[in-house]
Amino acid sequence: QANAETYAFQAEAAQILDLMAHSLYSNKDIFLRELISNASDAIDRLRFERNSQPEPAGAERDDDAPRIRVTFDKDAGTITIADNGIGMSRRDVMDNIGTIARSGTAEFLRTLTGDQRRDSELIGKFGVGFYSAFIVAERVVLTSRRAGLPASDGVRWSSDGKGEYTLEAVERAERGTTIVLELREGEDELLNEHRLRSIIQRYSDHISQPIVMEQDEAPVNQASALWARPKSELSEQDYHSYYRHLTNDFADPLAHLHTKVEGRYEYTLLLFIPSRAPHNLWVPQARDGVRLHIRRVFILEDSGQLLPNYLRFLRGVIDSADLPLNVSREILQGSQAVAHIHSSAVKRVLKLLKELADNQPEKYAAFWEQFGGVLKQGIADDPPHREDITELLRFTSTRSDTQAADVSLRDYVARMKEGQDKIYYLLAPSPAAAATSPHLEAFRAKGIEVLLLGEAVDGFVVSGPLREYQGKQLQSVAQGPPDFGDLADEAEKEAADRADSDYAALLGRLKAHLAGKAWDVRLTSRLTTSPACIVTDGAETDFTVVQRLRGSGL
Ligand code: ADP
Ligand code: MG
Repeated sequence: QANAETYAFQAEAAQILDLMAHSLYSNKDIFLRELISNASDAIDRLRFERNSQPEPAGAERDDDAPRIRVTFDKDAGTITIADNGIGMSRRDVMDNIGTIARSGTAEFLRTLTGDQRRDSELIGKFGVGFYSAFIVAERVVLTSRRAGLPASDGVRWSSDGKGEYTLEAVERAERGTTIVLELREGEDELLNEHRLRSIIQRYSDHISQPIVMEQDEAPVNQASALWARPKSELSEQDYHSYYRHLTNDFADPLAHLHTKVEGRYEYTLLLFIPSRAPHNLWVPQARDGVRLHIRRVFILEDSGQLLPNYLRFLRGVIDSADLPLNVSREILQGSQAVAHIHSSAVKRVLKLLKELADNQPEKYAAFWEQFGGVLKQGIADDPPHREDITELLRFTSTRSDTQAADVSLRDYVARMKEGQDKIYYLLAPSPAAAATSPHLEAFRAKGIEVLLLGEAVDGFVVSGPLREYQGKQLQSVAQGPPDFGDLADEAEKEAADRADSDYAALLGRLKAHLAGKAWDVRLTSRLTTSPACIVTDGAETDFTVVQRLRGSGL
């Protein structure tokens, strides 16, 4: 072809292609899952663009219904996947397919385990799905036109996956993308209607657009948004594969919540708690949690209007029947319907967490380990739900030697010693550091449990929003004079009395020596094995003291 140009794949892309062709064969059916998933994304993106941007003047606008078509040609030995989604310009093709190693590529290669099953699960996660076409194809020809561009701006990409690809300009009347796989020798068994149907049903049933195999034929997949289907029709497996489609996370979710609410506002929630924290959980603004749909149509990713920050670990879909399709983030902010959905979603999620905590403590422990630090922020951020969140907190404590955070405030209070009227805690840079603190000696000796708080957010939580629980004050064991309340014994009272007489001279000398460094030097009964310890006045947190002491070289 006169206008054809040949380009070399970037090294990492070439490496992946080689891997696809040679190492992932035992799971080869996933090629279709990946290409259908891209087609589905392309259709979603087209809808999103149409909702969020005015149509450019003079642009074509085909209003045909979204669809994904999978066909095969036995004689030619090809499988074709076509969509009428957003399509790609020449630039898009160059950027997305081929030359430039996309951000996930290098990471994908690093993460490979050599286990074919696992590795093929990773493909979708790292955004290298398109290349999976080369598991079964010896040559791939992709033809596309970006929605909004003229028919003459079509583009054709083709490659045998061996280091180079060719780009040429073509005429293409319809928008969207068509991918033709020229199968390798020996792949003829895929050229079979029944075989392809079963792959589609296995991997792509939850895709919300219809996947058709022949003109005017009924969709092969369910082709309805999964969340819109009645719960009774859905299996655990359906939820899991939908979760995977949504997140590219190959670990099953820990739990999910699926409710359709009808009343003043009508909406559906399908929310998943992942089993592992994503790498960007602590990156502010990085939220790829929950997608807003309006009557099935994907509108936007939530950036905090639908769910509060402290629930940002949730993934899933919220579908509202009350919002206008051209909704913007600004409109969301002031919307009554959104406010209603927000508060109802929070309530339901906290209820789900409580159920997990009560009935499936192991699952809850797994949840807490991954997301406890995030959920805790709700104590400060969400006063109306503070009580519910407080019940969900888990701490490490001196009761056991493990570092497991498995003690709730309720447990703690239930086993408080007779006469104990405070909940004691120690704040330290980590629970491990707290466990060896001399402040604990007297509490250990008396058999009083102390909560060991080791996360940065803990200091903030106990110093402000969470002052007491069930009427019991939270008290740091490192602040102020030792205060055992009614638990003080005779020896301690006596020691206090003797401070003035027996030890007055020693205390005086120490005070003079530490002038300017210590406010006071006191006799204590809180230590059993250490000779001395540093105590703060009630006003500052232990963290600040530790920092200042480090700074002062003491
Ligand atoms: P991912 O889907 O995770 O981004 P892929 O390797 O599957 O990674 O696809 C790479 C990119 O190529 C997509 O992000 C998209 O920009 C583009 N692409 C692939 N298939 C299509 C398609 N059918 N229509 C439009 N763009 C596509
Ligand atoms: Mg993909």
